[in-house]
Amino acid sequence: MANDQYNHTAWSNGDATNIQDGLSAQELFANRDGLTYNDFIILPGYIDFTADDVDLASPLTKQISLRAPLVSSPMDTVTESDMAIAMALCGGIGIIHHNCTPEYQANEVMKVKKYKHGFIRDPVVMSPSNRVTDVLEAKKKNGFTGIPITENGKLGGRLVGIVTSRDIDFREHDGQLLLSDVMTKLDDMITAPNGVTLQEANRILETSKKGKLPIVNDAGELVALIARTDLKKARSYPNASKDSNKQLLVGAAIGTRLEDRNRLAQLVQAGVDVVVLDSSQGNSVYQLDMIRFIKNTYPALQIIAGNVVTRQQAKNLIDAGADALRVGMGSGSICITQEVMACGCPQATAVYQVSSYAREFGVPIIADGGISSIGQIVKALALGASTVMMGSLLAGTSEAPGEYYFSDGVRLKKYRGMGSLEAMERKDAKGAAMSRYFHTEIDKLHVAQGVSGSIVDKGSALLFLPYLKCGLQHSCQDIGARSVLALRKMIYTGELRFMKRTHSAQLEGNVHGLFSYEKRLF
Ligand code: GDP
Ligand code: 5GP
Repeated sequence: MANDQYNHTAWSNGDATNIQDGLSAQELFANRDGLTYNDFIILPGYIDFTADDVDLASPLTKQISLRAPLVSSPMDTVTESDMAIAMALCGGIGIIHHNCTPEYQANEVMKVKKYKHGFIRDPVVMSPSNRVTDVLEAKKKNGFTGIPITENGKLGGRLVGIVTSRDIDFREHDGQLLLSDVMTKLDDMITAPNGVTLQEANRILETSKKGKLPIVNDAGELVALIARTDLKKARSYPNASKDSNKQLLVGAAIGTRLEDRNRLAQLVQAGVDVVVLDSSQGNSVYQLDMIRFIKNTYPALQIIAGNVVTRQQAKNLIDAGADALRVGMGSGSICITQEVMACGCPQATAVYQVSSYAREFGVPIIADGGISSIGQIVKALALGASTVMMGSLLAGTSEAPGEYYFSDGVRLKKYRGMGSLEAMERKDAKGAAMSRYFHTEIDKLHVAQGVSGSIVDKGSALLFLPYLKCGLQHSCQDIGARSVLALRKMIYTGELRFMKRTHSAQLEGNVHGLFSYEKRLF
C-alpha cells in the first residue's frame, strides 16, 4: 500500500509509461512569455558517445556551413582582421565592422583572405640601406620581424639577405645601424625557386629549421615569402573555415544607405564571402531595397539580414531573399535599446520564434547578443539558432582591436556598443555606426542605444575559442545530442526537454554559500 502511494505521486502523473519530464520547446513558449536564457534549463538525455565525437558543424547561411557555430560581432572593439582570422582558424567566422572608411574595411577583409594562403605574395621588404630602427618600427606596426632584404628594397628586387628577430635582438640601442651590417647574407640563407609547391616549400622549412623561406626566380629576384609559423598553424587548425580556394572565410558588415553600395563594391573586390546588413531593426524598406540590390548585382554573395526578433519582421526579409537572419534586439551586454526605446524582445523567445518560422524556408538563424557563457551558446542552439554571434565574450581577447590598459591593477580592454555616443562619433567612420540606428551625420542630437565600458583580459582567442568548442561538445553530450544538427532536430521532435527556472532555481544553479571563490574556466 505504501509503495502504491509512492508510485502514484502527482509528479509521475500516475502513468508509469509516460516518464518524459519537463516541457518540449513548443510547450515552453506556449504562453508566449518573453523568456531569457536564464529562465530555463535543458534536461539531460542519454549518452552513448564521447564528447570528442560531437560534431559542431552548422550552417551560417543557406550556402555557407561552419565547422563551429561561432560568429564574432561586427563591432569596432571586437572584429577586425586579427579576430576574423582567429575565428576562421577555429572553424567559425568573423564579421569585420564598418565603423571605418570603406578602404580600411576592405583592407581588413583582404588581410583575412590573404592570410596563410601559404605564400605571402606581398611581404614587407627593405633594402640594405634601411636601418635597424626601420625594422623595429615595422615590427610595432605589423607584428613580425622577418624581413627579406633586396637591392632596391622592393618585392621583385634581387634578394641579398634577410633580417629576422635574431639579427636585431639586443640591438634596440643601435637603431642607426645599417641593415647591411646586421642582416643574414644570401650565402647563409635557404631559399626556394619560384614554382615550388607549398608542400615542397613546407618540407624545406621543416628540414632547414629556418623561420622564413624566401622564394626567388631564376634571376635571384624575390617573388614571395613563406613563414614557418603559418606552417605550424595549418597543422593546428585542421577545421578552419575555408572557401573552395582554401582561403579563410570572412564576413563584413555594411549599412543600408546609398553610399554603402560603393562600400560593398570594395568589399566584394577584396573577396568578402558574406555580408551582414547591420541594422538594429532590420524590417525596413531600406534593408529590403538593399537585399534586392545585392541579389541583382552580386547573386553569388550571401546576405545576412536583420536584426529581427519577430516572425513578421523575419517574413519580409526572407521574402526579399535573405540567406540568414540575425536575431536580437536589446539583449546585448552593452545595449540600452529596451530601456531607451521600449522596443525589443527577450532573447530566448525571439530566437525560438524566429527560428521556428525561418526553418520552414531553410533560412538559418544567428542568435546575436547576450551570450556570456558556453551554457548560453547551447541554449541558443537548443532554441533553433544555427550559430551564435558574440561581442562581449570575445572583446577582451588579444585579437580584439584596441590596446590593453590597467585600472586598479586589472588588465582591461575597451568594449563599447556600436550605438554608444563614442562609437557613433568616431571621426573616420563618417556615420557608419549611426546608420545602424537610423541616425544621420546631420542629426542635431544622437540618442545613444549602447554604452561604453571595459572588459577583463581574456588572453588569446586562439585559446579561448577551443575552450568554447570543447565546452559545447561536453554540453551536447550531457543533452544526448551527437551533433549540433541532431540537437536542432531534437527540438522539433519534442525529444529535447526544457524546464522553466524559478528565481530560486536560478540562484541554486549558480555558485552559492561560499565565503569566497575563484572562478577559473579553463
Ligand atoms: P616574425 O618571426 O617576427 O617574422 O613573425 P612570425 O613568423 O612569428 O609571424 C609572421 C606572421 O605574419 C605569419 O603568420 C605571416 O604569414 C604573417 N605575415 C603577413 N605578412 C607578412 C610579411 O610581409 N612578412 C612576414 N615576415 N610575415 C608576414
Ligand atoms: P554581447 O555579445 O556583447 O552581449 O552583444 C553583442 C551584440 O549587441 C552585437 O552583435 C549587436 O547586435 C548588439 N549591439 C552592439 N552594439 C550595440 C548598441 O550600442 N546598442 C544595441 N542595442 N545593441 C548593440
